Amino acid sequence: MVMPRHVADTIAKVADGRLPDEGDLRALLDLPHRSAAAGEVMAAARELAREASGNRAEICVQIGLNVSPCPMNCRFCSFAAANGVFNESCELSVEEVVERAVRSEAEGANSIYLMGTGDYPMARFLEVGQEVRRHLRPTTPLVANVGDLNPTTARRIKDAGFCAAYHAVRMGEGRDTGITAERRLRTFRVIKEAGLQLGTCVEPVGPEHTDDEIVEKILLHRAAEPCFSGAMRRIPIPGTELARHGCISELRLAYLVAVARLAMGPSLIGNCTHEPNVLGACAGANMFWAEVGPNPRDTDATTEHGRGLDIAACRTMFAEAEYEVLEGPSLIHTEPVAAATAVARA
Ligand code: SF4
Repeated sequence: MVMPRHVADTIAKVADGRLPDEGDLRALLDLPHRSAAAGEVMAAARELAREASGNRAEICVQIGLNVSPCPMNCRFCSFAAANGVFNESCELSVEEVVERAVRSEAEGANSIYLMGTGDYPMARFLEVGQEVRRHLRPTTPLVANVGDLNPTTARRIKDAGFCAAYHAVRMGEGRDTGITAERRLRTFRVIKEAGLQLGTCVEPVGPEHTDDEIVEKILLHRAAEPCFSGAMRRIPIPGTELARHGCISELRLAYLVAVARLAMGPSLIGNCTHEPNVLGACAGANMFWAEVGPNPRDTDATTEHGRGLDIAACRTMFAEAEYEVLEGPSLIHTEPVAAATAVARA
């Protein structure tokens, strides 16, 4: 397939430091992801990611703090009460979380994420976070992945020693979740107003999601001025209603990773994909998560014995994609993000 003119112009536009608009992103997503032209788009995104990060990829370790039948009922999540996977609540002790965080740091994690379910008590999250912060090197970024925040809780997270929060307007938000997109967007704002970086991702993408919804989410996330973006596919939780849709292929996911990478322009360092895979790294993902503890894509409460990959596996995948893995603290969570914002406003 010959590269359509509009798509070639979009790649040139991004290389020139400008951001693709809605029409450009729609034209990218119109391309069949198996086409030769889509291969060129993925190659362009890969080069952009390599240039933005100096060919250094990053591995974050996400530690799940608890299991809960969560009343928010996001239908893609194994914790959702309605899915009936986990019917009892339990959580790691502070000591267990600290041990996992310190071990991950020693094994080369570039940043540590702490994740609680949507109903995990904020006071407990802050207590655990402060204790983890106390035991990590001062330069190791600590990132919060919790439910929606208000100005007070966002400030407390910052005061507890977190530098960033992960948040997303999910695919099907308000339809497949018990949370409105407006609530998510409010949380975006309070995260930024509290002086925290915002990390985000187009997720969780399933086969039924339209290109229109994907473009909508990319643009909402870009407008929030994140420190990283990316794309993640939905993992079917056996026995749940959404599982009937199945799962997009790694190739389709890699193409979405490439489109998300190009959409953010050249200045943003970080572009993630999940779960880690070599194809995604070859299409512009320079950020993977290793996972420990409970995981919303797993039915095993200790995902390191289930779906979760460890640092070594992520490292191997990046090596196969010919990335170097960054030694030391994350650049994504320490570099200013104003450059991408400046391009967006140009
Ligand atoms: S995604 Fe978060 S808020 Fe939604 S059900 Fe799962 S734990 Fe609860």
